[in-house]
Amino acid sequence: MQDDFKGGKLDPQDADAFRAQAHRLLDACLDQLETADERPWQCPPDDIDQRYEIQANGRDVDDVIDQIQGDVLPYHGGNTHPKFWGWVQGSGLASDLIASMASSVVNANLGGRHHGANHMERAVVDWARAKMGFPETASGLLVAGTSQATVISFQAARLRVVKDLRVSGQGAHHLTAYAAAGVHNATRKALELLGVGADNLRLVPLKNGQMDVDALRDMLHQDRAKGCIPFLLVGTAGSVDIGGFDDLTALADVAENEGLWLHVDGAFGAWTRIAAPAIRTLTDGIERADSIALDFHKWMYVGYDCGMVLICNEEEHRAAFAARPAYLQGADRGLAGGEPWFTDYGIDLSRGNRALKVWCALEIYGEAAFADAITGNCQLARLMADEVTTQPLMALGVDVISNICVFTARRDLPAAAQSALNSEIAQNLQESGEAVFSTTGINGVTMLRAAITNHRTRPVDIVAAIKAVAREACDLGESS
Ligand SMILES: *Cc1c(COP(=O)(O)O)cnc(C)c1O
Repeated sequence: MQDDFKGGKLDPQDADAFRAQAHRLLDACLDQLETADERPWQCPPDDIDQRYEIQANGRDVDDVIDQIQGDVLPYHGGNTHPKFWGWVQGSGLASDLIASMASSVVNANLGGRHHGANHMERAVVDWARAKMGFPETASGLLVAGTSQATVISFQAARLRVVKDLRVSGQGAHHLTAYAAAGVHNATRKALELLGVGADNLRLVPLKNGQMDVDALRDMLHQDRAKGCIPFLLVGTAGSVDIGGFDDLTALADVAENEGLWLHVDGAFGAWTRIAAPAIRTLTDGIERADSIALDFHKWMYVGYDCGMVLICNEEEHRAAFAARPAYLQGADRGLAGGEPWFTDYGIDLSRGNRALKVWCALEIYGEAAFADAITGNCQLARLMADEVTTQPLMALGVDVISNICVFTARRDLPAAAQSALNSEIAQNLQESGEAVFSTTGINGVTMLRAAITNHRTRPVDIVAAIKAVAREACDLGESS
């Protein structure tokens, strides 16, 4: 190997050329960001698979950048557009671009050791911890999303009741968990993965859109009488379908009296904690949870992927995950220092730098800008509800609780015809690029659903979208 070896073929051989190429792509990315409102989702071309086929022969960087501009940037998921409200997806931030540049060149592994990125993640965890009202001694880490945060939380919960879980497994312990009907599928999936089993998730009926706490108590007593071991109560802060919130204070009281681990699925709704007081009250009591799962990539608008788990008792958190073979032993000083290591609090050993994008977002825009955007999204959901109510043939499926509005375009039609029409409208407006609604079932009718976790949405977007729905409902209603 020559002394002037520069990373073989895996590093740029012409630094000036690479600089110009990278600048060109940066400009293209900035153009895309600045014109986000002209770029709704569009259907990928039929030959997209062929276009993306790996050539593997090595190509000129300029050629690859051309293809990124032509074949990659246009075919996004639409969630950067101001009229995207299908599903609960974040809208992405310009600060992500800055963060991803820096994190790419640093290429930090945040599993552990003594380097800056770990300290930044601690600062991010600490900020979120304080917002949720957890004590300074609580622990947490950034993860791919709420799904993973849920698995981590439930594992810690399980260890509290099955002391030798890590060595002997769950064995014959018949553990049962409780969540309101309408709980996100991530809870069921986590219980399946951990071997608790989906049948041992008891779905508590709703009363006025919240978990019926009396029904919960009855179910607990019946299960105990049968020899089950209730171990986990899952509260929902922001249900996907309607944006509903369980009474977390009531749940915390039950968890305390019954000796249950209280986990809060706050994927998006946890962030009501930083919103205006009237919205903030939705999550009163969250500070009494044992664990919280939440996402930065939804209602904090930060780029994918970026979720967090917070666990009130650091010792229980660490006890569930700490494990280090000889080659990973820490040291008092040097690069192998930096205890505690994040790998001891989760599933992953190697971990990317999710902290920098959260840090950049908070440092650049400030917490108040996020609070305003979240509060604003709830106001927009109410505006949409108002627009729906002024349309003679439309009707709300449920009242707006937070940031989700569910409605039918034609209440005058029979249920099956309404369902077909609403689905058709959702697809038409997605394909025309006018708006992205998703659908959900309410009382047996498939309805249009807007989940507003989008900082780019303006009141005019809401008004225009409801007009478009009315037009479609009229056109399609005529022809049916
Ligand atoms: C999105 C969501 C999840 C799953 O979170 P991911 O970040 O997609 O893994 C869980 N619960 C609720 C309420 C959600 O909205």
